[in-house]
Amino acid sequence: MAMAWEKEAERMVRTQILARGMAEGPLTEAMRSLPRHLFVPPERRHQAWDDGPLLIGRDQTISQPYMVALMTDYLGVGSGDAVLEIGTGSGYQAALLAALGCAVTSVERIVSLARRAEALLSRLGLDVTVVVGDGREGRPESAPYRGIIVTAGSPRLYQAWSDQLDRGGRLVVPLTLSPGLERLFIRERREEGFLDDWKEYCRFVPLLPGLDDGGGDVGGS
Ligand code: SAH
Repeated sequence: MAMAWEKEAERMVRTQILARGMAEGPLTEAMRSLPRHLFVPPERRHQAWDDGPLLIGRDQTISQPYMVALMTDYLGVGSGDAVLEIGTGSGYQAALLAALGCAVTSVERIVSLARRAEALLSRLGLDVTVVVGDGREGRPESAPYRGIIVTAGSPRLYQAWSDQLDRGGRLVVPLTLSPGLERLFIRERREEGFLDDWKEYCRFVPLLPGLDDGGGDVGGS
């Protein structure tokens, strides 16, 4: 019989998150509560809890668990906060934010990925609104946000993100320094202006312009 996924989740939190110095708290609890294996394609399910990113189709990836935890920690959001994610992908990052009690809006440019994530998130009863769109524009309809998290490598900071940030809110974005090299950038909106900070180097798939409807490709993955 396969190991119950809860044990895999526990092991992931212990060996990948706590072992790297993050503390027990709502974030680790939320990570234990999510069936990460359901967010990866069936043929990669045996690798779902591994310490790295995985391909999810359409050349996109689900991020490494530790990177998801780190960015969520920098975002600093909690129960009741409105959060915007750019780059739904598998939906795992959005699920984690919803499990923390946030009201999540997540924008994805690839229609097939958005649909798949939306179906899974609703099946799991998680409070996420998935929107097909170009995240470079943010999502003004539900702004302002306590947190904005971009999960694709961005060539620059788009004005919409800063504009849609609430007072005291934070933006977390991997900014592309050169092809294949990103660095986490944090911006906090203060009364008197913005407070910016650079964090870890990392690697993300690129933020791309416009929508992708698969050009009539019915399979979509
Ligand atoms: N957060 C995801 C991982 C994201 S991978 C997860 O937890 O699985 C990056 C995603 O960003 C991809 O799905 C890609 O299609 C999407 N993306 C890239 N550019 C975008 C844009 N301009 N607007 C919205 N989504 C975008």
